[in-house]
Amino acid sequence: MPLVDNHRISNSFLEINIDSIIHNYQLINNKVGNTECAAVLKADAYGMGASVVAKALDKVGCSTFFVATIDEGIELRACFSKNENQIAVLSGLLEGSEDIFYSNKLTPVLNDTEQIKKWAIYNKQKKISAPSILHIDTGMNRLGLTINELYDIIKNPTELKELHVEWIMSHLACGDQPRDIMNEKQLSVFLNAKKEFPNVKASLANSAGVFLGQSYHLDMVRPGIALYGSGSGSIPSKPLKQVIKLYSRILQIRTLSTGASVGYGASYRVSEATRVATVGLGYADGYLRSLSNCSWVFFNGLRLPVIGRISMDYITIDITQIASEKIKTGDFIEIIGDKFTLDDLATVANTVPHELLTRLGTRHHRIYRNTNNISK
Ligand SMILES: *Cc1c(COP(=O)(O)O)cnc(C)c1O
Repeated sequence: MPLVDNHRISNSFLEINIDSIIHNYQLINNKVGNTECAAVLKADAYGMGASVVAKALDKVGCSTFFVATIDEGIELRACFSKNENQIAVLSGLLEGSEDIFYSNKLTPVLNDTEQIKKWAIYNKQKKISAPSILHIDTGMNRLGLTINELYDIIKNPTELKELHVEWIMSHLACGDQPRDIMNEKQLSVFLNAKKEFPNVKASLANSAGVFLGQSYHLDMVRPGIALYGSGSGSIPSKPLKQVIKLYSRILQIRTLSTGASVGYGASYRVSEATRVATVGLGYADGYLRSLSNCSWVFFNGLRLPVIGRISMDYITIDITQIASEKIKTGDFIEIIGDKFTLDDLATVANTVPHELLTRLGTRHHRIYRNTNNISK
């Protein structure tokens, strides 16, 4: 049973255990030894609440944070009472954003030659030396300087000389597939590029990269999903602690007779008398529509199939195996928990835990547990 907040009557409750996030951070931090452990808090800390997560990690010594957008960076800056924490914005220096970066003490991740020039000119004009991160694309082909662009700049380093490059970084395409040769290739390209920046610290690994071995750790690792408890792909899930639990209420129960259908498109038909419960969450709450007719939920340890299509606000489940006096309207169904984790649900939905977690959204009533460690 969830520890329900008595003051709230909500369809569903998302429990977020802050101690588990801290445990996962410290586990990775210990694993990488002298390498710095940053934290990736983009998309509102993967839906967990960037402000709460940032304050908790700040308290245990994390001092570098990555977000995706400028807005996320501004919000995060407001969470910290001290100015020393570094906040890096992965999407880069958008046209005209120099002042915003500088006044909010955000570090731009420079993704192309234009951005390098702009940041260099801005620093020169202001007579400042604000830090930046140079993003080198080593094979992901998404963001960052291509290797050719990089060597062009190195040959003609006018702008580079004006810049305070604090870090170089790159991003792994196949970190979650430890045997893929792409990992070694990207590492080797990155290490070659690193030789051109002898006094600059380097970062390559996301969560999966942390578990590829020490050679991938370099000066800083950038875990995201592992902090939030996911151990899929190359990440061993055992030592990580689960962070979220999701419960939702039964809103109505009915008995269907043989041949009746359930939900939109009448996509599920019962082959015998079946007791069906309607539960108060749907795809608008992040319970993906692709889970229609193929997922499970749990009640008192029993596994119950999700039948029919997922609709915007509701799912329907088969509760026939539970005696009618043992389950009633208002009871809570475990959607994600000890029996069925975030990774289990992501596997069934044929997606990554990152997508599920960020989609869980804001409609659930969030309950934070173990927040006593959060700095005020
Ligand atoms: C999202 C992201 C990360 C974190 O990835 P996880 O798989 O969640 O650990 C690290 N680095 C970059 C550049 C990213 O975009």
